[in-house]
Amino acid sequence: MEKSNHFGKVYLIGAGPGDPGLLTVRGKSILEKADVVVYDRLVSPGVLSLCNPDAKMVDVGKMPTHHKVKQSEINKLLVKFAHEMPGATVARLKGGDPFVFGRGGEEALELVSAGVEFEIVPGVTSAIAVPAYAGIPVSHRGIATSFHIITGHEKLDERTLAGSLQTRDERNVIPATEPESLSSKPLGLDFEALARCPGTLIFLMGIANMDFIARRLMECGKEPKTPLAFVEKGTTPNQRTVMATLETAGETIVRENVTAPAITIMGGVVELGKTLAWKKNLPLSGKRLVVTRAAKQSSGITARLTALGAEVIETPMIETRDVALSNWDDLANFDILAFTSTNGVESFFKQLFAAGYDVRVLAGKKIASVGKITEKKLLEYGIRCDYVPEDHTGEGLGKLLRSILDERCSTNSQTLASSLSLSKGTEFTNLDESRILLLQGNLADDTLLKLLPKATRWVVYETLPVAELPEWKREAVASADAVVFASTSAVENFVNLMSNVKACHSERSEESSASMGPSLVELAQDDFIKKSPHTSFCIGRMTEATARRHGFETVTSDETTMDSLVKKIAEYYTTSPNH
Ligand code: SAH
Repeated sequence: MEKSNHFGKVYLIGAGPGDPGLLTVRGKSILEKADVVVYDRLVSPGVLSLCNPDAKMVDVGKMPTHHKVKQSEINKLLVKFAHEMPGATVARLKGGDPFVFGRGGEEALELVSAGVEFEIVPGVTSAIAVPAYAGIPVSHRGIATSFHIITGHEKLDERTLAGSLQTRDERNVIPATEPESLSSKPLGLDFEALARCPGTLIFLMGIANMDFIARRLMECGKEPKTPLAFVEKGTTPNQRTVMATLETAGETIVRENVTAPAITIMGGVVELGKTLAWKKNLPLSGKRLVVTRAAKQSSGITARLTALGAEVIETPMIETRDVALSNWDDLANFDILAFTSTNGVESFFKQLFAAGYDVRVLAGKKIASVGKITEKKLLEYGIRCDYVPEDHTGEGLGKLLRSILDERCSTNSQTLASSLSLSKGTEFTNLDESRILLLQGNLADDTLLKLLPKATRWVVYETLPVAELPEWKREAVASADAVVFASTSAVENFVNLMSNVKACHSERSEESSASMGPSLVELAQDDFIKKSPHTSFCIGRMTEATARRHGFETVTSDETTMDSLVKKIAEYYTTSPNH
């Protein structure tokens, strides 16, 4: 079949082993523009949160029915998306590298036969990155000159089993395991060859079978004292390394309760991990915290909590949406455009460009910004600000513009913080307050309008409570240790969002936007609290009271600042790590 541009293009992308910082630059840029993301269980929330927020997210690790989607169905799904969405970017996101036990090859073959164009974006495989995060180099001069990545979970299907036994019989070679044990531990591994192999052995998916694997290797002559490391949830804040030897493998897994996902590393290099383990145990290591502030506001607290070792799930409770502008011809009526937020800048230009205009419609106009961040955002659109107040507030901007009106465009006004004063542009002969246009959000207060009553205000975007959480995020939130609230409205909206579990599940299963309806079934508060972390960290007594009313345990910061809250969170987990 001919490749066709009339189809979407599929990207098989490796998400890396967990730490979102290990996603490749190429992978990230595709995820940011993806129309559909088909992802596996092992992909971390940190990577999923980098995907285009408008992308359709399809979890094939587990669907609403809680059954894993079969590989053949995944293959068909990818072809279906590509066929039905001409020009679309379909991202198939897999843990680690797509071709390392990721069945990426099978998916690519299916795409070829369906005539769908595709690209492979390799990922950082857990087989190498997870040992590295545990301080174990997979090869080391004088210790291991090769390394081998082995699946500990290869099930021989009947055909392969019959075939391999037949071949072995024909060659009169004794199978590595007896047929009876093949049926109980159906591993298609050549244990004799592995036992002879002097390099580092790295087993993926092998924890459940490791006792058996270790015994078979010893039976085949591998030294029982061979050092061994299990690294669980490598590269995530929950990473754990457990050391053992070949002969103690099985009992160590049981005693230490080693659980998937984990890899097993065997060989002399494991000893180096005792010296090279570099990942520090931080006060919030292993804690997953939900931050409910808007993304832009939360980055400060997110960075601080992450630096303390926590995994942060940013779950803003409000979102912004453009308010459609149509009166573009009226722009001619204004000489000064004043922006009071980066959101305002983005909404304005997005809509301006979508309407078929470009920045030339602003020629000759003066541009004012409330502060440095908005000023920087304008620069991204090639617009240099003429006026920025020194104190970066609405009041400061209002007073600055007022003074300009009063001084009638004086070029040496002391109040101008921006060096680009009117001297660089056209002098207005009839600068008039009514020719000022304020471009703001619906929640902007009236400070500017009060100071400039004859100015016009266009609401270019609105802020709304988030109406729904994508399923992957809901699950990440449900499994978190605690939620951080900075306002009563954040608590209220969080409770609403997390209470609508059933309704959102059934919407997803339909896989059709037509099924998106308002029929959200509220669960009782008891049910809500089962789906949500119990602990909340609150700023302010009002927030605390609201959280308590909804059944949260509360820990409240001493002062109403983020610093104080972060300190409180660290204290809480340090004084009682079992929390
Ligand atoms: N394509 C993936 C491997 C998929 S098989 C890759 O290249 O990494 C899944 C197995 O990978 C798991 O059973 C586990 O053995 C290993 N694995 C994946 N992520 C891991 C992690 N963060 N920590 C430990 N093992 C991991």
